Amino acid sequence: MHDGVTVSYDDVLRWIQTFAATMAEQRQYLTRLDSAIGDADHGINMDRGMQAALAKVDGLADGDIGALLKTVGMALVSTVGGAGGPLYGTLFLQMGMATTNKSELGPDDWRAALDAGLQGVQMRGKAEPGDKTMVDALTPARDALSAAVADGASFDEALRRSAAAAEDGMQATIPLVARKGRASYLGERSAGHQDPGATSSYLLLRTAADTWGGAAAPTDKEES
Ligand code: ADP
Ligand code: MG
Repeated sequence: MHDGVTVSYDDVLRWIQTFAATMAEQRQYLTRLDSAIGDADHGINMDRGMQAALAKVDGLADGDIGALLKTVGMALVSTVGGAGGPLYGTLFLQMGMATTNKSELGPDDWRAALDAGLQGVQMRGKAEPGDKTMVDALTPARDALSAAVADGASFDEALRRSAAAAEDGMQATIPLVARKGRASYLGERSAGHQDPGATSSYLLLRTAADTWGGAAAPTDKEES
């Protein structure tokens, strides 16, 4: 985010690349979380899907952020089975629909994209907040982003607040009893474990904040 106000196509591409790298790095961690309440494949699924997405976006060069995000979504839908792949695929596809023909995104565009993505996930998976799924990280992230945009916060600040809200939402899945997905088969035994999909969704928002906002603490001097 060179000007602090918008993210460019290249910024969005860097976010996708960084998220793919993060999924590769966190593959075992996510799979370990999924082994407790699922079938021990969430890290494998996300890593495989994002590697496939990277291969597809490499050839794109048209500067359309919507096309980029839709390409990621289609790669995930077509390469990852189970629940996670189609749900993440829908998230990116709907984000892409919301950003069609855009070459840069401001905070409100990003809010609209995340909102559309979350709505797509809920349309497809029928999960509500509190069901112990990725929706529990994405919903507070979307809400914190909306509130930050309404407050007139800077894009950096809005991104940081949305990542922090996603982290809280992820942690709040620990005591929950799962009502959707494989973890729901465990009933009460699903309580006491952090949801893998909420964890990867937190990492998605954290990666956006780190890639676009920069990891630097805010300073009071202007930088260009
Ligand atoms: P699978 O459950 O098919 O093995 P993954 O392990 O890749 O797929 O993904 C599991 C994650 O998917 C869960 O941790 C949860 O966050 C998410 N998930 C599962 N079902 C749903 C649903 N109906 N709505 C939203 N998210 C869901
Ligand atoms: Mg699984």
